[in-house]
Amino acid sequence: MNISVVIPAKDEEESIPELTQWISRVMKTHGFSYEVIFVDDGSSDKTWEKIKLAGATDPNVKGIRFNRNFGKSAALNTGFRAAQGDVVITMDSDLQDSPEEIPELYKMIKDGYDLVSGWKKKRHDPITKTVPSKFFNALTRGISGIQLHDFNCGLKAYSNVVVKNITVYGEMHRYIPLLAKWAGFTRIGEKVVEHHERKFGHSKFGLSRMRGMLDLLTITFMGRFGRRPMHLFGTGGVISFFFGFILTMKILWEKLDSVWFSKVPLKRDVTEQPAFYLALVFVVIGVQLFLAGFLAELIARQSVGKRDYLVIETSNC
Ligand code: UDP
Ligand code: MG
Repeated sequence: MNISVVIPAKDEEESIPELTQWISRVMKTHGFSYEVIFVDDGSSDKTWEKIKLAGATDPNVKGIRFNRNFGKSAALNTGFRAAQGDVVITMDSDLQDSPEEIPELYKMIKDGYDLVSGWKKKRHDPITKTVPSKFFNALTRGISGIQLHDFNCGLKAYSNVVVKNITVYGEMHRYIPLLAKWAGFTRIGEKVVEHHERKFGHSKFGLSRMRGMLDLLTITFMGRFGRRPMHLFGTGGVISFFFGFILTMKILWEKLDSVWFSKVPLKRDVTEQPAFYLALVFVVIGVQLFLAGFLAELIARQSVGKRDYLVIETSNC
């Protein structure tokens, strides 16, 4: 099969029929073999009925339904597990993304990209969305080193092997290019795509999308230190413990000196010196960081059995 189109849908009953017909038109024109996988993310309207209806008339249309709303990431991940096409395309179900982009995206993946992200250069969204989005994209570019203009675009294309080797969870759908990069898929491209105004219904993400920025920290940490957490925690622990230890030695030395050798009483008692509290804090934090590091290593070891790497070729075995 050439293409799997994965479409998460939460309360999009009006759009489903039009979107399915539009996709089918494009696919037929270009002669692709394809499947459309709708993932109904706990809709409370007639989305599921519309998906089933579309499937009844068009065997290319498949549906997966959650028992409640689990979020766009869970929906995409489920679609990815099911996708059989060589190229997997994701798009939103609200008709903001255009199926006309599919052939060109397909070609780019076939030409060697692992992932191609849409770029809504001319956006039809309110300013409350476009301005934070500019900031979000600049930040993500800076931290990840991936030169995309529009990380969160719902319209993306992947080579099948990519979607089978990443796990999108939580609210990580905003950072799929980063997940792909950390999994070793670094040929990441971009295509300017057409963007339309929402025709029916309303946006499902409000200000909550800002909290998603915290995921950038998680994902960067996981990518860099997920397999070796002690290297991060241990480094901090060593530095903190070192300062604490030096300060403790200094305080101890001065105290012993005043009691045993010089016999000159300290100007300030030990517990009245700022250095005492600093030493205390540094030592405690140092030990805590080590503990966090050991615990993280134990947890990381649990996943060693699970395959989290990808062998692409072998020879003589
Ligand atoms: N969506 C989903 N689960 C959710 C929220 C959204 O599957 O919990 C789907 C939604 O139906 C749409 C896509 O994700 O197909 C993008 O959502 P939306 O258009 O509301 O986001 P926006 O375009 O405003 O960023
Ligand atoms: Mg939308």
